[in-house]
Amino acid sequence: MQDRNTDGHRARKRFGQNFLSDPNIIRRIIDAIRPQPGECMVEIGPGLGAMTMPLIERLGHLHVVEIDRDLIARLRESWTPDQITIHEGDALKFDFGALVGGGGGEAPPGLRIVGNLPYNISTPILFHLAEFAERVKDMTFMLQKEVVMRMVAEPGTEEYGRLSVMLQYRFRMGRLFDVPPGAFRPAPKVMSSIVRLVPLPPEQLGASDHALLGRIVTAAFGQRRKTLKNTLRDFMDDEDFAALGLDPGLRGERLSVADFVAIANHCAAR
Ligand code: SAM
Repeated sequence: MQDRNTDGHRARKRFGQNFLSDPNIIRRIIDAIRPQPGECMVEIGPGLGAMTMPLIERLGHLHVVEIDRDLIARLRESWTPDQITIHEGDALKFDFGALVGGGGGEAPPGLRIVGNLPYNISTPILFHLAEFAERVKDMTFMLQKEVVMRMVAEPGTEEYGRLSVMLQYRFRMGRLFDVPPGAFRPAPKVMSSIVRLVPLPPEQLGASDHALLGRIVTAAFGQRRKTLKNTLRDFMDDEDFAALGLDPGLRGERLSVADFVAIANHCAAR
């Protein structure tokens, strides 16, 4: 499926293409990112280059990951290899960790990741990026406002769910500002927001088994209307709930991130 004409490029819906066209919004996003010369930064989905150009001007060099071959051809015409390193392909499969040195003892972790993310893959890309948190300095993204509200949601609210818990477990997050549909060509149907994610220090994470934490959180929110006694039946019995001082009659949305970590560590220790 193709959509309206944009600078001679037919915007492709299947790649979530809504190109930023409002210079004030672009400036605000770049100011929020505050790129500094020499930083190692990667932009996901540079598209027609709305953010790419000011980023390269400030950084000197930028990595980009883009899936659309027509857009890649344009990027190659616009920039020289010492200004831009183009990684062709799917950001969902890209090894972001390969762009910087490892954590442990070497240079401080420093990758900065930015992008006006393709909205059709926003949740999977956030989970993919979370895997590289230890090598990342920060990430600044544009996403649908509704997704950003879920990312930063507090326990007990309707928006609070698996995405909130798994991202808040790894990152300090903040919603910076909203961007209306009119700032894009073609205009999306929904409001967007800018969000920043800063990885928490590894020693603050607390779960002894991250994969187990992920499975427990997925189970707890798999059937939102059911109580923890039901959803966590494969992990916890009444005694386990009592040992942790948690009410099995609650729903997952009432538990804090720390509660989920306590459950995961209790299960891992058995
Ligand atoms: N950054 C540009 C802007 O702000 O105008 C474009 C943003 S547009 C919302 C999303 C961009 O991500 C498009 O360039 C699209 O081709 C690219 N894209 C979509 N899916 C992708 C994927 N799986 N991996 C890498 N890039 C992808």
